[in-house]
Amino acid sequence: MAVIACKNCGAKVNSEAVACPACGADPRTGEGGSPADAPSSNT
Ligand SMILES: [Zn+2]
Repeated sequence: MAVIACKNCGAKVNSEAVACPACGADPRTGEGGSPADAPSSNT
């Protein structure tokens, strides 16, 4: 078990989690959740 940083919001997320508990995005890709306070640099 390990802890990774969510790509979307930077929250500490269990590497086994399929979604960030803070923003709901995939912690590995940062996609699929709501960009809460994440710096939107796309588009
Ligand atoms: Zn997150």
